[in-house]
Amino acid sequence: MPQYKIAIVGAGPAGYFTAQALQNSQSDELSFSIDMFERLPTMWGLVRSGVAPDHPKIKTVAKVFEKVASEPNFRLFGNVEIGTDIDIEELCARYDAVVMCTGSAIGKKLGIPGEDLPGSLSAAEFVPWYNGHPDFASLDVPLDGTTAVVIGAGNVAMDCARILAIDPSELDSTDTATAALEALHTSSIRKVYIAGRRGPEHAAFTAPELRDLPKLEHTDVVISKEEVEAAHIRAEAAGEIEKHLASNLEAWRLIAEHPHSGHDREMEFHFLAAPKEFKGDGKIEEVVFGINEIRDGKVVDTGKTYSIKANLVISAIGYEAAHINGIYFHNGKIDNEEGRVLGTNIYTVGWAKRGPSGVIGTNKSDASDVVKLLISDLPEQARPDCDITTFIPAGIQIVDQASWTKINAAEVAAGEALGKPRLKETSIEKLLEMGK
Ligand code: NAP
Repeated sequence: MPQYKIAIVGAGPAGYFTAQALQNSQSDELSFSIDMFERLPTMWGLVRSGVAPDHPKIKTVAKVFEKVASEPNFRLFGNVEIGTDIDIEELCARYDAVVMCTGSAIGKKLGIPGEDLPGSLSAAEFVPWYNGHPDFASLDVPLDGTTAVVIGAGNVAMDCARILAIDPSELDSTDTATAALEALHTSSIRKVYIAGRRGPEHAAFTAPELRDLPKLEHTDVVISKEEVEAAHIRAEAAGEIEKHLASNLEAWRLIAEHPHSGHDREMEFHFLAAPKEFKGDGKIEEVVFGINEIRDGKVVDTGKTYSIKANLVISAIGYEAAHINGIYFHNGKIDNEEGRVLGTNIYTVGWAKRGPSGVIGTNKSDASDVVKLLISDLPEQARPDCDITTFIPAGIQIVDQASWTKINAAEVAAGEALGKPRLKETSIEKLLEMGK
């Protein structure tokens, strides 16, 4: 029976679900040995560095990942960067297939004046900062002003706004990065605006996230009743209201009608507000919005503007994939057809394949579809065995599954003592030490 060798690049949800789909496809006639490569010494991708710390339930999927990793045909090579430490060409030559599950790590730019002023951050920096990603541990997040603006009407914008707007004591029992939590405790921010360029009926927030807002203990959430009513009327005029939109409109109504308790912390939604310019003398001081309106179902610029004074702006308007040597990217994704990189034995799953859309579970069906294609493309003969470690430059400390298990256990133990699910370490050096 041929045992095919598969390399998976990226230890996030797409990577683990790909490994799981391969494991589930094994039979008497087909088996796989799976090597997963990850550039960090920590695993789980966005489950660790993306999912908001106050949403711990979503992170329980990590148990599935660890079950996948405990199978005998799975090996982990953490702290090994493909495209730098090992060339893609090398992997393609040694493995029957290479599956790129490298996500989308770069925040999209607005392309407006003032976007590069200090105080203007991307969610692609802010989210990994509060989640303890080593690359963002020293990010400068100015929290000394009273007002912040979050741009975008998706769930990432919602996470960013919530983290800024809630009382930081609500994060004390979470795995928020220690430095970020300390900074949030000193934050002067009391008002957080979330700005969407279209109407509430077009927002990409999902209903469960909206329905959670009135439950916030120390934060009033504000949207005008007139805005919600207008959105409802426009949605009805546009035709049949789909289920997800009906849920969102109902959630908006509940938010608008929820009595305010007079907290000094507020999160306020602004719609039909298109960012035009960030102004300030050496740092962000003001955000200028163009006012849109909806005419005949189309969003149009009225030519009018208004401004919000703020010292921190976070753009949460989507992501694109970061470049990897040896891989061709197009439109912010790995150039692929349904997950196949044509003319190669490379495949891709997750955000690197389809762009930054869907929830963690979306990657499960995505992986299963791509693994079916991968299996249908396999040659009759599997490649000969090879010791990939001989291609990893000397001096690199590989974080294998045993080593990651030690890091994971040490973080959980350190957290337990403080009543947290884990205490994240953000120094690569220390993580490697913990894995020894
Ligand atoms: P998203 O859902 O695609 O939302 C992006 C938002 O950015 C949209 O509102 C979009 O507005 C806006 N936008 C894009 N370009 C803009 C511009 N130039 N100016 C102003 N606004 C602009 O993306 P995301 O929030 O990054 O989330 C990515 C995926 O992760 C989504 O599928 C999301 O559901 C998922 N996620 C889920 C959770 C959860 O389940 N709790 C948490 C976080 C993320 P237009 O619609 O007008 O283009």
